[in-house]
Amino acid sequence: MRNQIVVVGSSNIDLIAQLSHLPKPGETVGDAAFSQAHGGKGANQTVAAARAGAEVSFITSLGNDSFGQSMLQDFKRIGINTDYILQSKDTPTGTALIWVDTRGENSIAVAPGANHKLSPQYIDECRILLSGAELILLQLEIPFETVEYVIDLAASLGKKIMLNPAPARKLERKHLKPLFNLTVNETEAAMLSGMPVETQEQVVEAGRYLLAMGPEMVVITLGARGVFYLTKREQKMVEAYPVKPIDTTAAGDVFCGVLASQMVQNKKLADAIKYANAAAALSTTILGAQPSAPNQQQIKDFLDQYEF
Ligand code: ADP
Repeated sequence: MRNQIVVVGSSNIDLIAQLSHLPKPGETVGDAAFSQAHGGKGANQTVAAARAGAEVSFITSLGNDSFGQSMLQDFKRIGINTDYILQSKDTPTGTALIWVDTRGENSIAVAPGANHKLSPQYIDECRILLSGAELILLQLEIPFETVEYVIDLAASLGKKIMLNPAPARKLERKHLKPLFNLTVNETEAAMLSGMPVETQEQVVEAGRYLLAMGPEMVVITLGARGVFYLTKREQKMVEAYPVKPIDTTAAGDVFCGVLASQMVQNKKLADAIKYANAAAALSTTILGAQPSAPNQQQIKDFLDQYEF
């Protein structure tokens, strides 16, 4: 199997209770509707990249439990290379316990579980896989020392590195300098730049600041406002597609995975952004994180609707 993208990241099972109101300490709310879905930023982006046509290998750590087994089966079914997935014997699969009330307010408890087993030592065992990659895609839902280790190793191997620093945290120049692509949402852009990122001017300013930290390109996703991207040679604000969203969970993950899939096909940046913007908009019209990642045909059909 060709090895275009290697994602190093998290896998979580999302256990969701939709209830009339969020329980207070000591309270039992008995009217919940339960659902479960495969999630985790690493897994979501892996699935999105694979559905968009890339050959993807996933380095993640699952528990040796039924959730882990079912995720592994799903990755295989989608055609993802699972040879380097770790299955921890003594730690459960990462779990997000999510309560959502009728107004869409939520409370979330995340138990990282097996995600914490993704250690720098394990990355050493994946060196051959990483050496063969065209692009290495990372988020921040695994131990930070592992993220740093992968960035250093990938840079020493001369690999293209794409970082989606989510959940948001402060990073240093040494983390951003080796990047080929930094993709952030407004919160992450504000956290990394230390600047407000609300108005169009502020978005541009934060983008310039982040580009000056060293990445070859910076992409700022702006939810329903679209995307801003810049390199040393070009910068552009691109509007979002006018869809009626029903669930924006993982829109950013779909955007990142699909953008990565286009980067390894050497698409022009403007075209790659357009494709990812379309895929992410489409994903907001479908319920669930991984189920909402569209395939190539769905993205093509969606784009055709908007070509006049
Ligand atoms: P995150 O999920 O990380 O917060 P964003 O909310 O910025 O990321 O969304 C990522 C991308 O998803 C946007 O840049 C856009 O392409 C698409 N998107 C998100 N919300 C909408 C929306 N309401 N309408 C159309 N596209 C959207």
